Amino acid sequence: MSVFLKENQQNVDQMSNKSGTLYFLGTGTSQGVPVIGCSCEVCTSQNPKDSRSRSSVHIVFNGIHLQIDAGPDFRQQMIDAGLTHVDAVLFTHEHQDHIAGLDDTRPIIFRTGNEMLIYAQQRVINRIKKVYDYAFEPQQYPGAPRIHATYIDDGQKFSVRGVQIQSLPVIHGRLPILGYRVGGLAYLTDTNFIPESTYDLLKDLEVLVIDALHHRNHFSHYTLEQAIEQAKEIGAKRTYFIHMSHYMGLHEAISSKLPENMFLSFDGLEIQFD
Ligand SMILES: [Zn+2]
Ligand SMILES: [Zn+2]
Ligand SMILES: [Zn+2]
Repeated sequence: MSVFLKENQQNVDQMSNKSGTLYFLGTGTSQGVPVIGCSCEVCTSQNPKDSRSRSSVHIVFNGIHLQIDAGPDFRQQMIDAGLTHVDAVLFTHEHQDHIAGLDDTRPIIFRTGNEMLIYAQQRVINRIKKVYDYAFEPQQYPGAPRIHATYIDDGQKFSVRGVQIQSLPVIHGRLPILGYRVGGLAYLTDTNFIPESTYDLLKDLEVLVIDALHHRNHFSHYTLEQAIEQAKEIGAKRTYFIHMSHYMGLHEAISSKLPENMFLSFDGLEIQFD
């Protein structure tokens, strides 16, 4: 079980008056790490930072709780992080490692009596309506989640309970998907190409979170080396890599080789931003 660790490279006084907190709930690729049946040094590592559940983050900004993606590990991630509430789920795309946990928002739906608000591109909502058809039937089974879906156009700005969110169009293999920006934080998972117009939306970032699968080229994810290049180009004050596979290597070994102000994230990491 991961314990949420405060980032230690900044002094606490400086952090305390920031409006946003980012929880890295999961930082692994679709199969998770350890991989079932794998005996490599990463999958058998005793360092908790080498265990990576499926990628998602939770943002608290001005008291509003935004969940970006809800994968198969969502329930355990919320419990481990001590988080109890979600105001809205923003989905980046429809792959199963990003949507498989939506049904587990039910305790929040039941407790608040509100529908769960979800935001995504139309294609993604269509997929969610297929996977969770029982949640969208006119005569719902008692105990089914009640979900209110809103379509987001590529590049659209929208707000959730007063928090401004900028959608960030990026490419994931053949899929046009979305990242999200809240204040000085941008989250880009499952990305292997950033369109020119999206770079304009990534200016003056305090924190960039970006996909870095491992070291070998992949048709739908940046490698660590490509993600470092992107991070330099975008120039956020701090960059954190996510969606890592066991081929990334050991957390400590890879972390020690990264450029200044770039970090491998890990499950349980919590940082502050404005
Ligand atoms: Zn993924
Ligand atoms: Zn392995
Ligand atoms: Zn994906």
